[in-house]
Amino acid sequence: MKEFRVTPIRNGTVIDHIDCGMALKVLRIIGVGQNVRSTVSILMHVPSKKAGWKDVVKVEDRELDPREVDKISLISPKATINIIRDFNVAEKYKLDLPNVVRGIVRCGNPSCITNLKEPVEPEFIIDNDDPPVLRCIYCDRILDDIAEHLI
Ligand SMILES: [Zn+2]
Repeated sequence: MKEFRVTPIRNGTVIDHIDCGMALKVLRIIGVGQNVRSTVSILMHVPSKKAGWKDVVKVEDRELDPREVDKISLISPKATINIIRDFNVAEKYKLDLPNVVRGIVRCGNPSCITNLKEPVEPEFIIDNDDPPVLRCIYCDRILDDIAEHLI
């Protein structure tokens, strides 16, 4: 099989090994469409040596902040981040799901204290890594659709 190559970018971030079908959700996390002035490329349904099929997102002239990285790890825990500087991979890392996430997803339970007008930040325990299972520490509810509840 011919090796798959992505067009090189000078500076930016390549998010690789995204679970197939999740690329658009990754774009939403990194806020593409709002105030991004650089080029963003998406490759969907690309053959992966590791696991069948994958999506890839390349964002030029931009690196991700830790909140964005945590969010991506929640919807696609197998993704890898490559930071490109001057056409070279300056840093490459696998996502590492934290044990607890705070303030990046909302609880799906409307009567949870975090959804009332209390100054309580949503907080979840990670019950399972892949697929990620999040349990609210306040009401114990398992979050149904993580991508839909990202803050
Ligand atoms: Zn809750």
